[in-house]
Amino acid sequence: MKIFKDKISLQKEILNKPISFIPTMGGLHKGHISLIKRSKKFKKKTLVSIFVNPRQFNKKSDYRSYPRNKLKDVSILKNLNVNYLYIPSVKDIYGFKPKHKLYLDKFSKKLCGKFRKGHFEGVINVMNRLIQIIKPKTIFMGKKDYQQLFLIKKFISRHKINSKIIECNTVRQANGVAFSSRNSLLKPNDIKIASRIYYFINKIKKKFDVYNFNFLKTEMIKLGASKVDYIENYNIKKNFIKSKKYNKNCKIFIAYYIKNVRLIDNI
Ligand code: AMP
Repeated sequence: MKIFKDKISLQKEILNKPISFIPTMGGLHKGHISLIKRSKKFKKKTLVSIFVNPRQFNKKSDYRSYPRNKLKDVSILKNLNVNYLYIPSVKDIYGFKPKHKLYLDKFSKKLCGKFRKGHFEGVINVMNRLIQIIKPKTIFMGKKDYQQLFLIKKFISRHKINSKIIECNTVRQANGVAFSSRNSLLKPNDIKIASRIYYFINKIKKKFDVYNFNFLKTEMIKLGASKVDYIENYNIKKNFIKSKKYNKNCKIFIAYYIKNVRLIDNI
């Protein structure tokens, strides 16, 4: 595996090579690994980036405490026979003017966009730059972050960028909790709370229309959540329309805290 810390040397290496790209913020886990394994099945070179993007954090303390484990990440990626790892500095990413303007679909105002001001601007900004540097043929992204995935797809199609997004299923622990870098900030009992919340949402989702937000929030707090940002039902097949009734085209989107750790999922 070749490791690059600056875009000039990376670009020299990958020029004219078809690239499959997996953008990450590190703290690698089985969710990331599934994306990489899927990419390895394509006859392209696999490039993983690790960049904890400061602009997508709305709180400095959250940016500072975000799990980082470079040595472990490098060892995981070597074992997976990843071709290239790009670990840029903030200057390498933000020290140039990108070709494309940021485009945020109106859905960026909903869900996490409502509770994390500037978050999706930061996400689209970094993806705009990474795509310009790498020019990937395919990009692998997880449905765990469905709103992010949707907004990046809208950005790519708006600018007619020649990169295809491959949507990958959410990988979960046996107890239902979705793998997430932030899980490493949780204690075993906190993981049990996250698991109970996962099963609770699964249990109520078919009757979602009979419950109101306050009831669901109170139930989640009883199960151990410290705070609930949202529990909303969207039809993801119909261009993300908020829906009262749950059906097979719907997902329940949740964001909540266990102590000061914010978790998101869609079930
Ligand atoms: P992150 O490092 O959290 O920015 O995530 C990098 C990529 O991994 C994103 O496309 C995520 O959606 C994806 N991802 C994160 N967790 C999971 C998971 N549990 N299952 C599948 N993909 C995931």
